[in-house]
Amino acid sequence: MSARTMCRRHPTKPAVTSCKRCSAPICSECKLAMPEGAFCSMACVKEFRDFQSRIWADGGPRRRFSLRATIRYLFTVVILVIVIVVALYFWLGTTDPVEMWENLRRQFRLLF
Ligand SMILES: [Zn+2]
Ligand SMILES: [Zn+2]
Repeated sequence: MSARTMCRRHPTKPAVTSCKRCSAPICSECKLAMPEGAFCSMACVKEFRDFQSRIWADGGPRRRFSLRATIRYLFTVVILVIVIVVALYFWLGTTDPVEMWENLRRQFRLLF
């Protein structure tokens, strides 16, 4: 067995990824890039989509999606980012990322 995994259809071409459905090693030429991932053939894309829709028809994975929780989460992240930026602004005296980075490096050189 060779060290590199070769494409299932092209034994001379190294595989760049594997099919999301059947896990077959596939080269860049065979790769079908889909929003769901990489597949070796349209048959696998179809099977994968059928499988997915069956999962959703069964009620899906027991993942409770709450819009309110998502909004609260996003809100927290935004607040956190603002707080960090404001803190950095007061610490470094700038909002320009390049200048901020330079000042940050200078600050660290002073600390250590
Ligand atoms: Zn496949
Ligand atoms: Zn191939």
